[in-house]
Formats: sequence, structure tokens, C-alpha cells
Amino acid sequence: MRIDILTLFPEMFDGVLNQSIIKRAREKGHVEINVINFRTFADNKHQKVDDTPYGGGAGMVLTIQPLVSCLESIPNFKSATKILTTPSGHTYNQNKAKSLSEKKHLIIICGHYEGIDERILNYIDEEISIGDYVLTGGEIAALAIIDSVIRLIPNVINKESITEESFSDNLLEYPQYTKPYEYKGLKVPDVLISGNHEEIRKFRRFEALKKTYFRRPDLLEKAKLNNEDINFLNKIKNE
Ligand code: SAM
Repeated sequence: MRIDILTLFPEMFDGVLNQSIIKRAREKGHVEINVINFRTFADNKHQKVDDTPYGGGAGMVLTIQPLVSCLESIPNFKSATKILTTPSGHTYNQNKAKSLSEKKHLIIICGHYEGIDERILNYIDEEISIGDYVLTGGEIAALAIIDSVIRLIPNVINKESITEESFSDNLLEYPQYTKPYEYKGLKVPDVLISGNHEEIRKFRRFEALKKTYFRRPDLLEKAKLNNEDINFLNKIKNE
């Protein structure tokens, strides 16, 4: 996969893209990431990229020319999936991360200040918001998208880690424990050290359903539940 990020603040990406799983994915060639400062595409003497809003109002709006020139400079930009980060977009979730991880080429545009001249919408395919709050710029949103997408690219991380995690089947993940068995009087549930795989499976499924029922009942409505799950849920409701 190739990812191009259009930003005024390329340095914001240095740390995250050069650490841990993303760093390894880049080194192994699973993903190529280019961070481009679209200011360098401004066709005016002072490389100005913003201006006052038509109709008046506070703040500055990013002009369309540097962004479009930058987009057009990217090889095969027409066939790429072009994403605009914006609080007005569809709220990002794991399903969207999964579908983006199957694309060959993503281009992500980071806005700033009051946002971008609305005519940019003629050049993009998707508007994505990472939640109902306002960030100062699209860089953190772009990083959230990139991070969640890269870990889903085949062979970037262990397949089992991806299939059994939160949201993979519209359930939150079961609780995880590790050594020591007892810490300041807090013990690990005994079933996890029983060695009985079937009992461990049942315990984890029950706990995943319980967590989802209490914290995210909206997810449960979309989950595929079998008879055992329905029995577990009845037990949870009656507890
Ligand atoms: N005036 C805009 C509004 O009210 O919707 C907010 C602009 S915000 C200060 C500047 C940039 O940050 C946006 O253009 C967008 O790229 C990014 N941004 C802010 N909040 C975001 C969110 N929740 N999701 C994705 N991008 C966001």
C-alpha cells in the first residue's frame, strides 16, 4: 500500500511513523508513506496557503490551489482513494479501517485553521471525522487513520490478534491478564490457569458479551449471536 499525507506540519508525523509496528511495516515494504508539505506547491511568491473567508468571520481558510497542485503531482492520484479529514465527515470506525486497509493507495489531506475551501470536495472521495470534537488540525486524525489501517494490512501483525480484538465481530474484547498470578491481593481468574481450553473459551466469550452489554449495547444489536451467546446474555441480564 502507498499512503500520501498532505500537511503543513510534516514534522508532526516523524515520531509516530518511525516507531514500533508502523516502522517495521515500512521497513518490510508492506506500506510506503510519503509526507508532503503542500505549502511548497503554492504558486505565489510568499508560499501563502490561507486567506480570509468570503462572507467574513473569524480565522483563515486554506486555499484550494496548493492542495490541488499537490494532489495532481502524486503519481496515479486519480485512482487513489482521496480522504479529507474533517469534523463534518462520517465518523471513523473499525469497519472503515478494514475497508481502507484493502486499498492500494490512500491520500489523506490534513486541514488546519478554520478548514479548507469547500471546493476541495470536488477532488476527494471520502470525508472522515475521528469523533465529535474539534482538533486544531487533521494531522492527529490522519495518524489515527494510518495507524489503524496499517495494522490490518496482511502480515503486518499476527492474524489472530486482529480477528479476536474489539469490534472484530461487534463485541468488545474479553479482559486480558498476565503474570504475576497475584498482585497485591488481586488474583487472575482461576479458569485462566486451569488449562481447560473449552472453559477458557466460554469464560472469554461470556466476559466479552458482558463488557459489550454494559458498555456498548449499540454494538450488540449488530453482533452475530449463536444460542450459547443468547444463553450467556440472559444470564448476564439476570445477574
Ligand atoms: N471550522 C471547522 C469546523 O467547525 O468544522 C474546524 C476546523 S479544525 C480547527 C481544522 C482541521 O482539523 C480540519 O480542517 C480538519 O482537517 C481537522 N479536524 C478537526 N477536527 C477533526 C475531527 N474530529 N476529525 C477529523 N479531522 C478533524
